[in-house]
Amino acid sequence: MGGAISAPEAFGASFDLAPGVETFELGEGLEGDPAFAFRRTLGMFATGVTILTARVAEQVHGMTANAFMSVSLSPPLVLISIDRRAKMGALLHEGTRFGVSVLEARQTDLSDRFAGRISDDVPEPTFEIVHEAPLVEGALAHLVARVVRSYWGGDHSLFLGQVEFARYGEGRPLLFHGGRYERLIEDPRVFALLPPELLEPILALGVERSYADAEAIMRAGDPGDELMLVLEGTVRVRRPGRDFMLGVGELIGEIEVLDPGGGRIADITAEGPVRCLAISRDSLLTALEADPRAAIALIEVLAARFRETA
Ligand code: FAD
Repeated sequence: MGGAISAPEAFGASFDLAPGVETFELGEGLEGDPAFAFRRTLGMFATGVTILTARVAEQVHGMTANAFMSVSLSPPLVLISIDRRAKMGALLHEGTRFGVSVLEARQTDLSDRFAGRISDDVPEPTFEIVHEAPLVEGALAHLVARVVRSYWGGDHSLFLGQVEFARYGEGRPLLFHGGRYERLIEDPRVFALLPPELLEPILALGVERSYADAEAIMRAGDPGDELMLVLEGTVRVRRPGRDFMLGVGELIGEIEVLDPGGGRIADITAEGPVRCLAISRDSLLTALEADPRAAIALIEVLAARFRETA
């Protein structure tokens, strides 16, 4: 265990005595450079990606950061952690305002740019000034906060900000996990993306079912042993955080039919009279065995899902 080290002057009010430098134990199989293992361990925590911005005279300075967290709803507080070597840290003091722009899934170029990995073909970012703070245009969500406290954080500095402005739009966030960009997969379509000549033989094995208005077609948690094509009418799909309608020609239960242990992930009910074509898992497997091109096309659809955004 090392001795206590003192906090930088500016942070004295918050940390009179900074904690000492301590060694830590690495789990089994993680021999080697402890700093590397520590970094990799922290990288398992998936986050979104933000661009932090501040205004210096008429100039805007931005940097990419994933060390952003919500702290309190009342008062509204957020926290950011900034490397003491970063220019951004020197621009923030109690009372200064900073912008937080939460990036959308396709904004990996912006993230790279504000992390100093500039590429020439990326268009110049544009900013909107709100509450005296710059915000990156086109981001998924924006916050403006005023620094109310700053804290010693080892080789980083922590800034607690009182939120003065917040807004969000529609879209999916850019994610960062294990040192890579990732994105959420919400689109449940799999079979629907097969070419028609490969999908039709599968649908030919289906049997018709009819449902009355408000009747349950699938229930969350039930075994997902069938895929269905809506032939007539409209169905309502209710998944945690999402509620939407699907109509004629749409497939339902596409993921679960490929995942025997998983169970249904949505409640699906008929909105008015509905007619569906139900294809059992057994029929599906028979069709895939009969035409390996369909199986290969399915693997390609699934593989595309896991391709990272950059
Ligand atoms: P610089 O390195 O000088 O600037 C950053 C980049 O932004 C430069 O390329 C600069 O040209 C560009 N830039 C700045 N202002 C503008 C502008 N107005 N218009 C156009 N371009 C501009 N570091 C942390 O300290 N904390 C974190 O939480 C953190 N999270 C990260 C998460 C990810 C996903 C990544 C990729 C990096 C993260 N970093 C984090 C690292 C950090 O983004 C870089 O170290 C960054 O370079 C630090 O910026 P700086 O303030 O020192 O300024």
